Amino acid sequence: MNMYIYGYGQPGSERYILVDVGVAFPDMESSPGANLIFPDSKWISERKDRLDAIFITHAHEDHIGALGHLYCDLEAPIFARKFTAHIARLKMEEHGRDINAISIVEPITQKVSIRDFKVSFIPISHSIPESSALVIDSPIGRIIHSGDFKLDSKPGVGDPFNKKVWSNIGPVKALVCDSTNVLNNEAGKSEESVSKPIKELMERCSGMVVATTFASNIARVRTLAESGVLSGRSVVLLGAAINRMISAGLETGVIKRFPKTVNPEEALDIPRENLLLIVTGSQGERRAASAQLSRGKFKGFSLKSGDVFLFSSKTIPGNEVSVSRITNKLSEKGVDVVDESMGNYHVSGHANGPDLEQFHKLVKPEVVIPMHGEHRMLREHCKLASKNNIKNILAPNGSIVSFSGEDVRVSDFVETGRIYQDGSIYYGALDGIMRDRINMALNGLVTISLLIDENDDPLEDIWCEIRGLFEVGSSAIHLSELLEDNISNLLKFWDKNILLDDDKIEEIVRRSVKKTCLEEIGKKPEVTVVILRLS
Ligand SMILES: [Zn+2]
Ligand SMILES: [Zn+2]
Repeated sequence: MNMYIYGYGQPGSERYILVDVGVAFPDMESSPGANLIFPDSKWISERKDRLDAIFITHAHEDHIGALGHLYCDLEAPIFARKFTAHIARLKMEEHGRDINAISIVEPITQKVSIRDFKVSFIPISHSIPESSALVIDSPIGRIIHSGDFKLDSKPGVGDPFNKKVWSNIGPVKALVCDSTNVLNNEAGKSEESVSKPIKELMERCSGMVVATTFASNIARVRTLAESGVLSGRSVVLLGAAINRMISAGLETGVIKRFPKTVNPEEALDIPRENLLLIVTGSQGERRAASAQLSRGKFKGFSLKSGDVFLFSSKTIPGNEVSVSRITNKLSEKGVDVVDESMGNYHVSGHANGPDLEQFHKLVKPEVVIPMHGEHRMLREHCKLASKNNIKNILAPNGSIVSFSGEDVRVSDFVETGRIYQDGSIYYGALDGIMRDRINMALNGLVTISLLIDENDDPLEDIWCEIRGLFEVGSSAIHLSELLEDNISNLLKFWDKNILLDDDKIEEIVRRSVKKTCLEEIGKKPEVTVVILRLS
């Protein structure tokens, strides 16, 4: 979930521009049940009267996904290239925001002047059309914000990596640079290299081929479709995201051609060995087409022995379990699952270690500031710069890097974090709700209700409800009965000092329940105490 801020001015009255407004996706381990995760934009929204512009480098969800959700906290003009602006408009419309806030910027030639900043978009190769680096000129010098990129001279769709442009970029104060693939020690491969292996795989398969990739990787979706046609197959696009992205590509002119496709109903009359389905759900998303096909029928299609399912994608760390659930379900049907480990069926959209080194050498920045990666990757990227005697700064989330004074350095930290969208509500990690949910999931929940009458005397009827725990423990008595009896016995000894104090009652009950449960079932559950006073 990317969000970067550049500022210039006297301390306390700096003016800001913001780069990217992305999302992250929830997982069962850290954010069960959340819909989406946003960067906490509190710091900038508290200063939004000094926020002059928002720039979006490209249309991947981790860079654009939160635009519609967070726009009311930002409210500044948005600048992006045509294809990205098209996706931005969809995001804004979805949330009822004013799409006139978005301006389309021509790459290279157009400079957007925002007070002390002049910003231009430089095309750079990645795995989505029109990905761009930003050249940010400021009174302290030129900053390059790389965006996500790779060095690919034949990316299929979108702009090839242009060495000349980067070696003539002029004096660069700082390169703020993608770190995603820094740990990979081999030079990256071109998008072009996957097309032959994919075509050969489709020719070899005697049954139906189903292929999945990231919907936004329009180049790959087109390569898959073209390979399908070349191997004598009719092509069906299954899943809303893929259809949306191909339409966006054609509408904005980033692709001029796409092979003819057939709709799912027509395809049911075509022999399966002449079919290619291109489907959503390369990350194992439960409701996407790939997961539905692995479970059974989807839109009339079902898979069987002799069919091939191709993952022309990389499993993003954290999604391994969901993906393997699908691959095993497919395997049970006799389907051969093929992924990137079995041939050159996928290339990454990010620069590997040697590519980053080459990029540093082309741009020749005074300082490299790694971004877009886990802490370990940022550090490794710093080491790579150090190896070539380029100054570098490790700036993890929340760092403020200062260019004032003698030396570039991390001068301060601001509080950053995650905002969860959970149903129709937004809240932060510090609100403790997600922590509660995780604790309930891990430990189970016991609710104890007790009644206190008009005279502040407790009634003996205690009511206990148990959720998510085995109900009979070591003493072979029903756990809820045991807890009810224990507390009934306890409250006989309570004096007014306790009975008038809800906090004390809660504390005593909670401790007693945890102790009993630990003895009975070896677990300390979450405990909720409900006190009903009849007075
Ligand atoms: Zn990214
Ligand atoms: Zn990206």
